[in-house]
Amino acid sequence: ISVTDQIQPPKICVCVRKRPLNKQEINKKEIDVVSVPGKGALLVHEPKQKVDLTKYLDNQTFHFDFSFDETATNDLVYHFTAKPLVQSIFEGCMATCFAYGQTGSGKTHTMGGGFTGRQQNSAKGIYALAAQDVFTYLHHRRYANLDLSAYVSFFEIYNGKVYDLLNKKAKLRVMEDDRQQVQVVGLEEVHVTTTEEVIKMIQAGSACRTSGQTSANANSSRSHAVLQIALRCNNRAATLHGKFSLVDLAGNERGTDVSSSDRSTLVETAEINRSLLALKECIRSLGKNSEHIPFRMSTLTKVLRDSFIGEKSRTCMIAMVSPGMASCEYTMNTLRYADRVKEL
Ligand code: ADP
Ligand code: MG
Repeated sequence: ISVTDQIQPPKICVCVRKRPLNKQEINKKEIDVVSVPGKGALLVHEPKQKVDLTKYLDNQTFHFDFSFDETATNDLVYHFTAKPLVQSIFEGCMATCFAYGQTGSGKTHTMGGGFTGRQQNSAKGIYALAAQDVFTYLHHRRYANLDLSAYVSFFEIYNGKVYDLLNKKAKLRVMEDDRQQVQVVGLEEVHVTTTEEVIKMIQAGSACRTSGQTSANANSSRSHAVLQIALRCNNRAATLHGKFSLVDLAGNERGTDVSSSDRSTLVETAEINRSLLALKECIRSLGKNSEHIPFRMSTLTKVLRDSFIGEKSRTCMIAMVSPGMASCEYTMNTLRYADRVKEL
C-alpha cells in the first residue's frame, strides 16, 4: 500500500464511468453513442434530426477530473476516486463518494461490486476496496499511534425516511440538536476488524434492501443506500476522528410519463429529484467555501451534513453512463448534472 504525503485530495472530484453494452443491448443491435478519448474527456454522439428530417450525430464533449471507459475495472476506478479519500479520513477528514446515474448505468456494480448484484460473484466494488484499505491504514506506522478503530453503518433513504439495513430495516428518526449536529437516532454502528466482516454486512444489508419487492431492482433504484465507515479513537468517549460515507444514489431518471404513474410513484420521484437537487447545491457550496450550505433541503443532505461543512470536507462524484443510443437522453442529463457539480 502506498501512503502518499499529498494527504489532502482536492475538495471536489467529479468523474464519469461508462459501462459496456450488455447482452440484451447487443442482441437488440443497440448503437454505442459514448466514447472516451482519454484525459477526463467524454464524448456523446447524440442522434438529432434536421428540419428536413435528415438524421445526423451531434458530438457533445464533456470534461471531468477522470473519465473511465468500458474496459476500466472497479480497481482502477477505485484507485483514482475513493482511495485518496480513504487516506483523508485518517487525516481527520469527512469524506463522501457518490455513485450517480440512471437505473442500470452501473452504480451498484461500482459501489457494491459482485456482492450486491443478482448474480453474486467475488468482484470487489468500492465499498469492499475502501474497507480493505481502511484496515491496512489502521496498522500503518503513520497512523497506528492514533489508536483508532473502524465502525460500519449501512442505511437506506427511501421517500425521505431512513431505514437501518443492519437492523431489520428499522425506521429511524433524524434529529438536529440546538448545536446543529445531525443524528440518526439508534443507527447500528458495528465495530469491524476485517474486510470479510464488512463484505458480509454489505451482502446482508443489500439483500434486506430489495426484499419484499416483486421485481428485485424496483425498490433499490428508488432509494439511496449509504455505507459509512467511521474512525473512532479508542478512548472512553470514542471520539470521532474521521468518516467516509459511500452513497449508491437512487436512479436519476425522471418519471416522465406522469399520466400513467400512480400517486406513490409521483411522490417518490418528487422526493428523489429534490434530494438530488439538494445534493448538487450542497456540493457546489462546498466548492465555493460558502457559509450557507442548504443541507436542510432533503434527508440525504441532512444526514450527510457534517461532510459538507468546514475545511476538512472532501467529496467525489462518479457519474455513471449507459452507452446505448436508447439511453442518450438520460446520459445527457447525467452529464449535465455532473458538469454543474464541478463548475464553480
Ligand atoms: P444501477 O445500480 O445503476 O441500477 P447496476 O450496477 O445494477 O446499475 O448495473 C446494471 C447491470 O449492468 C448489472 O447487471 C451490472 O452487473 C452491469 N454492469 C454495470 N456496470 C458494469 C461494468 N462497468 N462492467 C460490466 N458490467 C457492468
Ligand atoms: Mg443499483
